[in-house]
Amino acid sequence: MDLKVTVLGASGSYPGPGAACSGYLVQGGGVNVVVDLGPGSLANLQRHLPLDQLDAVILSHAHADHWVDLTGLHVAHKYFFGREGLPVYVTAENRERAALLIDGAEPVFEFREITDGTTVRCGALDVVFSGTHHYVETLAVRVGVGSSSVAYSADTGPDWSFEEFTTYRQGPVDLAVCEATHLADAEHLGILHLSARQAGEMARRAGVGRLVLTHLQPGSDRGVYHLEGREAFGREIEVAGEHVDYEV
Ligand SMILES: [Zn+2]
Repeated sequence: MDLKVTVLGASGSYPGPGAACSGYLVQGGGVNVVVDLGPGSLANLQRHLPLDQLDAVILSHAHADHWVDLTGLHVAHKYFFGREGLPVYVTAENRERAALLIDGAEPVFEFREITDGTTVRCGALDVVFSGTHHYVETLAVRVGVGSSSVAYSADTGPDWSFEEFTTYRQGPVDLAVCEATHLADAEHLGILHLSARQAGEMARRAGVGRLVLTHLQPGSDRGVYHLEGREAFGREIEVAGEHVDYEV
């Protein structure tokens, strides 16, 4: 195992009944990074990692369902662990919003602004960002260590693809965690999210190894997303489950 992704929350747009919003613990090369911290994900994170063992936070975009649990992490680090300088990778807009919401965000956090094309080294991890097709600046992320890699779409409409990583940037994607907010019957609405069908088709074209669908509409039938995504991907896929981990 080179990389492990643990799902902390897979509920799209708002928390479902007992289900947290977007959050993923990515571990590899001795480094612990959390990607997105939506409502509920901080609680779930602590079933897998003590909060003082986090090495960095990556936030994909400024929509609340992807980051507001940063508030709780701030309290924990400031008042309970006395820690400073946790790197938090954010878009400029997300940094502004976080600074508004969190009194004294720095120096507890050390904000590092990211944008399309930014590459960073996080311990042993090589991290690259790609701007997606969404309502605000949103960054998909690819994390690589050795010859293994995982990628996360963040939120995106159909005009972005994992090809941004596989074709133009840092090579293959062994495991793709892709948003699928709705089903094909809602594609005509033109919202900047993917259906399970679109996610499957896009991931197939990009040549990713394995596909995990996430960011599902709360209360929806996971089985239908699974069937629709699998048909479009052309192979077996998985639908993200809270506390389930995926290894590459
Ligand atoms: Zn969003």
